Amino acid sequence: MNRPLKSTPGCPHVGWQWLRAIDLHDTPGSKPGKNKRCEFCKEEKTQFVHYLSHPDCKRTLAVGRKCAKILSGDLRVDATERYLRDRAQRKTEFIHHKDWRQSAQGNFWIEYQGHHIVVVSYHHGQFKLRIDGVPGKLFFKNAVAAMGKAFDVLEEKRIEQGR
Ligand SMILES: [Zn+2]
Repeated sequence: MNRPLKSTPGCPHVGWQWLRAIDLHDTPGSKPGKNKRCEFCKEEKTQFVHYLSHPDCKRTLAVGRKCAKILSGDLRVDATERYLRDRAQRKTEFIHHKDWRQSAQGNFWIEYQGHHIVVVSYHHGQFKLRIDGVPGKLFFKNAVAAMGKAFDVLEEKRIEQGR
């Protein structure tokens, strides 16, 4: 039986440490559009999963925002979820940006926040990225996947530069 952990004897209610949070809709290996039920209350269903650890518990707990806040009291719960929501929205906007153009060779390209991004189309129906003239190594099954990866790369650069 799939009992919520909060009614499981021996599972602590205090002293949890917040580890990190992920956007389930933007995580390699997870099914797109699928939400996860909170392991603690079994009530929250969320796209944003927070991971908690406890010195008395061997396993990591995957919970929703409310339980993450109650169990850890960590201010990063709200801040991180806010960031992930904002990031997801900006990523969607980037992929659907009106400035994407298609070159004569069939490559999509865009000038975005001072970067020149090209989604290079190959004969065998796959795609590669070229960002600011630097060719990427990965192949992508479709242009949208490549565009999404371009956003991830730019976002990393932006965070590194503290902008
Ligand atoms: Zn919960």
